[in-house]
Amino acid sequence: MQGIEKTLIRRMNDLADPSCLDLGLGELRFLTPRAILDHVKENLDGWKLGYTPNEGYAELRRLIAEKSHFPVTPDRICVTVGAQEAILAVLMVTVDRGDEVLVPDPGFPAYASLVRLAGGEPRGYPLRPEAGFRLQADDVLAAVTARTKAVVLNSPNNPTGAVYGESELRALADGLRDASVLTISDEVYREISFGAPPASIASVADFGGRCAVIDSFSKSFCMTGWRIGWCAVPAELVKPLASFHQLSVTCAPAISQRAAIHALKGAADEERRRNVETLRVRRDLALKCLKEHTDLEPLLPEGAFYVFVNVAAKRVPHGGSLEIALNLLAKEKVVTIPGIAFGERGEGWLRLSFAAEPEAIEEGIKRIGRFLAG
Ligand code: PMP
Repeated sequence: MQGIEKTLIRRMNDLADPSCLDLGLGELRFLTPRAILDHVKENLDGWKLGYTPNEGYAELRRLIAEKSHFPVTPDRICVTVGAQEAILAVLMVTVDRGDEVLVPDPGFPAYASLVRLAGGEPRGYPLRPEAGFRLQADDVLAAVTARTKAVVLNSPNNPTGAVYGESELRALADGLRDASVLTISDEVYREISFGAPPASIASVADFGGRCAVIDSFSKSFCMTGWRIGWCAVPAELVKPLASFHQLSVTCAPAISQRAAIHALKGAADEERRRNVETLRVRRDLALKCLKEHTDLEPLLPEGAFYVFVNVAAKRVPHGGSLEIALNLLAKEKVVTIPGIAFGERGEGWLRLSFAAEPEAIEEGIKRIGRFLAG
């Protein structure tokens, strides 16, 4: 663990107090859908909530496989303690000491730390603002070396809200087909997009069996605290992954698995659809407020619930992204996440979460405008 700390996202949030306007945390403010809560309440007394099979209840794994957007059998699925455990587990059974793993820059900060935890060395590949931060296959392929063991993809993307194009994903799949490199596709924001359903490298013909897909109920069903996710892995990783998972957590919480089974049967789908519509309205509100109250030029988020804004021109007199975020917190009581939290290429940017209530979005952005103009 030497040199590995809590991510800057967590540290920013730890600095905030309840009076702050929170445009920081990567979490929806909606309750877990009513249908799921009611199902748990109604059935709780009759459930045996002991250990479950290590890889998860058979019914849950079957439903996950059935609902999947790529061909997969239940035996390749392991139910985990959120996507976070799934990413760690896949890295632990893939990476040997000294192996390189390509991670997006800017990207979700836990990737690099988890690669280090697994004994590997993270190497950033660029996501470029001029391409709307969408993945470009050549940038990834150019970063592959003889030591590269895995590549992490994340679409819809945290922190940029970008959704990757199908043709680039296909080009990447073609480029990686002959390499012994595992693709790890983190799709936790898959259900939160504002256009066509996001493309996935796992849906490219014959590629789904070669990649590890990570997903969870955290964002798609507003179940962050239930700690339940899953991964689908290539056949050769099933056994080692099951061993790591059993030794580290035994199984995902039984009550959360029961709730997840009900969730996948569709009872909450209407509420989820409404939540995405609410997020679309909040995204548009955030963009409108940025236009009205600041001279910043945001990227249009196509998915997730983040807007990434370029503050590089504010370096004089305000400093780098960390300094700006810390001062926004101290002087204006607004929580934002500095782009540097997401890698070197995130420097000069701020991540704002539009999962917040509309009043907080409006007032928060007003204060950001006031601060940056000052
Ligand atoms: N991947 C990404 C890109 C995330 O943003 C997050 C959570 N913020 C996770 C994984 C972890 O999700 P979970 O709550 O399912 O562990």
